[in-house]
Amino acid sequence: ATPAAVMVGTGRAAELGVLFRKGLALETLAQVHTICLDKTGTLTMGKPVLGEIRADNPQQLLELAAALESVSEHPLAQAIVNAAKKKGIEVSPVRQFQAIPGRGVAGVVQDQQVLLGSAAWMQEQGIATDKFDRADAQFVGTWVYLAVGGLLSGKIAIQDQLRPEAAAVIRQLTRMGLQLVMITGDSKAAARQLAESLQLPTFHAEVLPQDKANIVKQLQGQGSKVAFVGDGINDAPALAQADVGLAMATGTDIAMETADLTLTHGDLAALVTAIQASRKTMATIR
Ligand code: ADP
Ligand code: MG
Repeated sequence: ATPAAVMVGTGRAAELGVLFRKGLALETLAQVHTICLDKTGTLTMGKPVLGEIRADNPQQLLELAAALESVSEHPLAQAIVNAAKKKGIEVSPVRQFQAIPGRGVAGVVQDQQVLLGSAAWMQEQGIATDKFDRADAQFVGTWVYLAVGGLLSGKIAIQDQLRPEAAAVIRQLTRMGLQLVMITGDSKAAARQLAESLQLPTFHAEVLPQDKANIVKQLQGQGSKVAFVGDGINDAPALAQADVGLAMATGTDIAMETADLTLTHGDLAALVTAIQASRKTMATIR
């Protein structure tokens, strides 16, 4: 590749909301056939809002949840903290805080051991999650579960919004001949619902951070260059494994530091721009 042509491509892409951080990303992007996309914070806004709380004591559940999430940088955290603030709940201090990427958060609040996270994680810890289940097939979104002292005390419905440009971007990438795969740590129900609404043919749900990277590796093993688009700490291994890692500027610093390329306005349309710029640049060079 002649440096001049690459510069032109890179400069134009920067105007359009793409920042190339690593040298060969522009060249490699032109050869990508598979694009893996994270869900929360990537296809969705990552600005979820709180829905229903199911618990024997909903006020106390929100108090404990808000305490844990006040020290978390996960997109789901903001929804819980904001809802608590709105209700005038004072946030209690947390000791021994731990964030377990792709699973949830834990800590000691008001002298109690509290866990907040996915159903799958609770079950791993031997905590039954069905206590507050009801037939509610039409619920769309994510349930997060809260356990105190090893027992489920309730669950919180959290709903995120699709990015307004997501559907159009998915259609366009498909037309450009790219194979699209959604990979999320969220539940199968939430993933299926979103995949259907976006007409994404393939998705993987309940995937832990290292397994996101393993799926990328598998796809690479099938001979195609793979890009991964993500925003979270949980996406860092996959962003590193991918031939081209793309981070949403609206996401975490770790994702951006690991990625080759940043979508500077957190606008997915820039993904299309980047690929087009890359294909054009490489065509000029050849
Ligand atoms: P995604 O891959 O879609 O970005 P994550 O891997 O970040 O999702 O999270 C997967 C699941 O783990 C979430 O849907 C949630 O159930 C749980 N989880 C992770 N972090 C948190 C947190 N800070 N608070 C509550 N739940 C969390
Ligand atoms: Mg994410």
